[in-house]
Amino acid sequence: MSAPLYHLRNQFPALNQPDLVYLDNAATTQKPERVLSAMNRFYREQNANVHRGAHRLSDLATRTFEGARDKVQSFINAPAREEVIFTRGTTESMNLLAQSLGSHLLQPGDEILIDTWAHHACIVPWQQMAMRTGAKLIPIPLTGDGDLDLDAYQALLGPKTRVVSLTQVSNALGKVAPLEVMLPEARAAGAITIVDGAQAVAHLEIDVQTLGCDFYAFSGHKCYGPTGIGVLWGRRELLEQMPPYQYGGEMIQQVSFEGSQFNRLPYKFEAGTPAIAEAIGLGEALAFIDELDRKALQAHETALMERVKAGMAALPGVEAIAGRGHNLGALSFRVEGEHHQDIGILLDQAGVAVRCGHHCCQPLMQALGLKGSCRVSFAAYNSLEEVDAFLSALKEITEFLD
Ligand code: PLP
Repeated sequence: MSAPLYHLRNQFPALNQPDLVYLDNAATTQKPERVLSAMNRFYREQNANVHRGAHRLSDLATRTFEGARDKVQSFINAPAREEVIFTRGTTESMNLLAQSLGSHLLQPGDEILIDTWAHHACIVPWQQMAMRTGAKLIPIPLTGDGDLDLDAYQALLGPKTRVVSLTQVSNALGKVAPLEVMLPEARAAGAITIVDGAQAVAHLEIDVQTLGCDFYAFSGHKCYGPTGIGVLWGRRELLEQMPPYQYGGEMIQQVSFEGSQFNRLPYKFEAGTPAIAEAIGLGEALAFIDELDRKALQAHETALMERVKAGMAALPGVEAIAGRGHNLGALSFRVEGEHHQDIGILLDQAGVAVRCGHHCCQPLMQALGLKGSCRVSFAAYNSLEEVDAFLSALKEITEFLD
């Protein structure tokens, strides 16, 4: 492991067990001690409901919870804290958008462009909203190398394009979308832009103002934070216009049996008691990432990816999928003549955790002509030794099955 990151492993209790090479980080990352402690501390010392109590503990809980929102705001460089909405994760962020923005915006014949890399969490909510409103969901196709086809994208953009939803980093392929090209083109076509940053946040610096998108979503558990918490950032003027997504406590200002007035942002979109400890854990996870040496992290992740690609290329019958060019954090592969599930089980028996299946990207798998794949995915704490352990297990498996 490169020197500036060597100390990281010790901060992750779950990594401290024998026979575990954890290469399934795109599914979820392990959690550092400081995240676990922050959540523990909340329940042990600060536990109270937020935004409502007249008492000292509730005030403390509220301040800690809202402090987590401030951390998210600064982490993604959002212009205002009111634009940061806590959700359960990327899936809920996308459902919120499709239901609230979709019902507010879409007319029959309108078009929603979505990339072929998209996770089901991005596809299905818009597909359902398209069916309800008479809008059309249109996929942005791939090139032969598995990249997004920018010529086709430009040709698809037009006066009917209302929404463009883009995956910043593909969870199945580790490919990175050229957002700096695609977002301005979508904006020029008058579309509202959504970025799924679920696989980006642990690897890239995120600045929603530089990106220039309208909405940005991610999940806490994929960036060293807990499950059950995520973020939707959106431009205030759009969020103000959108109807609430869910109804109940917290999201109202006044209720009578005749009608209700809704709360201001961000509470308008946060019905019910929020995931308080999880938000605090997320804030701590983002502080952890902030303290990483970004240059060292990038160099280390590049070294891991190069090592795994070179190793796979040397193994007969093993093929990296869309492995030409740049892959960030994740790489899919297959073994000729073998089912991905069998390879995953054999790797697990060798102590290596990878993901096998369609990666919640069935349309992508169809476009690639695959039923599924195996995938290795890295976090900051993975080491070159772990890559070697994976490669040597894979070598043994392929020789055994040959
Ligand atoms: N988008 C991408 C690119 C993902 O990788 C995932 C999870 O794998 C999701 C969305 C959905 O995230 P969650 O299950 O945390 O809501």
